[in-house]
Amino acid sequence: MIQKVLIANRGEIALRIVRACRELGIKTLAVYSEADVQSLHVQLADEAICIGGPKSADSYLRADRIISAAEIADVDAIHPGYGFLSENAKFAEQCESCNIKFIGPKSKSIKMMGDKSIAKDTVKKAGVPIVPGSDGPVETETEAVKTARKIGYPVIIKAVAGGGGRGMRIAHNDVSFAKEYHVARNEAEKAFGNGAVYIEKYIERPRHIEFQILADSHGKVIHLGERDCSIQRRHQKLIEESPSPFLNADLRKKMGKAAVKAAAAANYENAGTIEFLVDAKGNYYFIEMNTRIQVEHPVTEECTGIDLIKQQIHIANGQKLEFDQSDIKFEKHAIECRINAEDPARNFAPSPGTIGLYYAPGGHGVRVDSHAYSGYTIPSHYDSMIGKLICFGSTRKVALERAYRALSEYLIRGVKTTIPLHKAIMSDPIFISGKATTAYMEDFLNRTPTDLFL
Ligand code: ADP
Repeated sequence: MIQKVLIANRGEIALRIVRACRELGIKTLAVYSEADVQSLHVQLADEAICIGGPKSADSYLRADRIISAAEIADVDAIHPGYGFLSENAKFAEQCESCNIKFIGPKSKSIKMMGDKSIAKDTVKKAGVPIVPGSDGPVETETEAVKTARKIGYPVIIKAVAGGGGRGMRIAHNDVSFAKEYHVARNEAEKAFGNGAVYIEKYIERPRHIEFQILADSHGKVIHLGERDCSIQRRHQKLIEESPSPFLNADLRKKMGKAAVKAAAAANYENAGTIEFLVDAKGNYYFIEMNTRIQVEHPVTEECTGIDLIKQQIHIANGQKLEFDQSDIKFEKHAIECRINAEDPARNFAPSPGTIGLYYAPGGHGVRVDSHAYSGYTIPSHYDSMIGKLICFGSTRKVALERAYRALSEYLIRGVKTTIPLHKAIMSDPIFISGKATTAYMEDFLNRTPTDLFL
């Protein structure tokens, strides 16, 4: 049984893992960079070890130093959180070979689902619909143009190793395709060290709907319902909610079954997410699997009452899931707003700096997952998310009203944040109507005077 966990991450997710471990009576070891000395997870974990300089490449991505810290502190498991090494099959393999439990899937599943074209192939064989596209990466421009024409414009060019909404380009004809193909390859090479790209049909105005999966090491796979993550800026999620206002019971059941099939096809174990795009007619297409805990996991937790981080630990311990699909009830509506330190007046550029006053909202149906506090300095080296506000209630209307109320109470002084933007969205009739697609944010920003969310 796991008794001590190294948390190979930082920020709110590191804190989230400390909290789950403490409730389970498990000791925690924080590893941190020189820029994160002040960070709350470092202060709240039972032990902490500095593993290097501020740059991720010198600390949170240094598998060797993390494993050394694990050995020195005698931990029996590593929780990778999200981002950093969480989907690095080699790191999972290193943990396996050092006899340290990796709280996540087996390295083989990470490898399989981490390569987006292998992942698509795998789930297609299991009978799950995928977005029409190239069979694997396209190596030359000539082959790529031929494929794009065959699929039919518009198409989207995506990095095989992509993630975080980066490395994607859209092309509407041969001319724009030739240009975007090269841009995409260069971007992918720079961002992921792998220039390989593949092509997909660009689904216009889809919804992004994903299913939370839990799978134990005894072969049981269930889903915990969906999250609608259609509110995105530049392919990056901003707001997530569950249940999706778009799905009816029938479609939910069908997609849930498809998600379970997709996970089973990868021999999946632990928590994971199957992502789909859904068009206006309700056709759904698998786009990728995330083989880790996701930023938006609290939405599912508040809808189902199940603590996903604790489940990850139980599964890593080899325990059986204690519930069946029929035990999972979706009785609440939950919505999450990602609070980023960004300046809307400067095209959402990161706004690092020192927080003067920090006051988080509370009250009925409000949860805040954040590592920020008064006097905390947000380092410039990492992503700009400083917290997540999750509001829930018996209906979507209650959850949305509560989110607006909580956002109005949320005080973060000294840095620019996305709080005013979220307030404007929570009171926007199109968002409230539940009809927003992934095209929503661009339209919203075009029609809304910027000073409304400054
Ligand atoms: P990443 O791994 O970088 O997050 P995803 O494949 O999950 O990339 O896609 C992120 C977002 O990009 C989706 O939620 C959607 O908004 C958009 N997207 C991806 N593929 C397509 C597609 N074929 N058609 C339309 N939009 C897409």
